[in-house]
Amino acid sequence: MKIAMIGAGMAGLAAANRLRERGFDCTVFEKSRGLGGRMATRRVDALQFDHGAQYFTARGARFRSRLMQWQTRGVAAEWLPGKWVGMPGMTAPARSLGEGIEIIQGARVTGLDGGPGHWRLISDTAPNGAHEYGLFEAVIMAIPAPQIVPLAASAGIRFPELESVRYAPCLTLMLAFDAVTDLHEWSLSPAEGPIAWMARNRTKPGREGPLETLVAHATPAWSRQHVDTPTESAAETLLHALRPHLGAAEPVFRMLHRWLYARVEQTAGVPYLWDPIRQVGACGDWAGGPRVEAAFDSGEALAMAVIESLGRTRQGSSEPGG
Ligand SMILES: Cc1cc2nc3c(=O)[nH]c(=O)nc-3n(C[C@H](O)[C@H](O)[C@H](O)COP(=O)(O)OP(=O)(O)OC[C@H]3O[C@@H](n4cnc5c(N)ncnc54)[C@H](O)[C@@H]3O)c2cc1C
Repeated sequence: MKIAMIGAGMAGLAAANRLRERGFDCTVFEKSRGLGGRMATRRVDALQFDHGAQYFTARGARFRSRLMQWQTRGVAAEWLPGKWVGMPGMTAPARSLGEGIEIIQGARVTGLDGGPGHWRLISDTAPNGAHEYGLFEAVIMAIPAPQIVPLAASAGIRFPELESVRYAPCLTLMLAFDAVTDLHEWSLSPAEGPIAWMARNRTKPGREGPLETLVAHATPAWSRQHVDTPTESAAETLLHALRPHLGAAEPVFRMLHRWLYARVEQTAGVPYLWDPIRQVGACGDWAGGPRVEAAFDSGEALAMAVIESLGRTRQGSSEPGG
């Protein structure tokens, strides 16, 4: 039974991994060139910056057990007590979940067409000029709620639970220094000003490098206000706010990234969405909150619901089961 998964972040890959384990033929469509979504690491020459999620925690038994597997496989390590990071970058756990799954990267899905048993995905950026993929029994959207709403609407589907979901944007400044800064802490959260959090990337396991690398996240309020501010001007303001912590050091590299849907502020109040008639579902951090674990839990929970709904519970079976 073929299932289309839209989005190769933590939620989508957790769901795809579980579905594959139960014998479903899952194809993942990802608009970017990498896996992991907001669990991201930007590499520029010898520099690397975790510019999305800084770390993740594991509160529930299910995610903790997965984390232990990642630690054993060397794709996650503890940075600070209870604060975990991917190894050697934040995308590593997602890549581990995606092993053995067909993932089509660089394919942004812009529409759904058809119906249960014969869904087709429309893409405007697909490689090799392909603009349509199918046919699929079921479709799962593992993307931020504001992006699910128009995609579902393209097939006449409405999930009212998603309409109240709200995300905060986050402007992120990446800096590198070849001189010593005044920073001695692993991270800091200034009490006021536009910076919410700043981390010394190089203090994380596996990220040692010749230069001091910093990642600074602007506050939700400042990010909202400056979402359209020209890059140079926004970067300059954030750098200025960091100056008191940097001493005389001047950055030798700087780059700004804008996350439009960074952190969930208002959740949907449901663990996932699944329409068993149309065979269309959705999962993501919008279900449980702005955390990697919430995305994982939502993906897992949806996969279990799909397995039950589509009547395929036998591990490794390739035909519909009872
Ligand atoms: C700046 C920042 C700091 C954060 N800090 C933390 C933290 O410290 N701790 C923590 O636990 N969490 C943190 N988070 C939140 C955490 O990263 C997210 O909650 C989690 O990664 C969300 O996973 P997801 O799978 O739901 O969504 P995403 O990671 O957004 O994955 C969705 C994927 O779908 C793709 N996609 C979207 N639309 C389409 C389309 N139409 N077609 C194809 N592909 C599509 C995207 O490219 C993306 O890869 C932070 C996030 C940000 C941005």
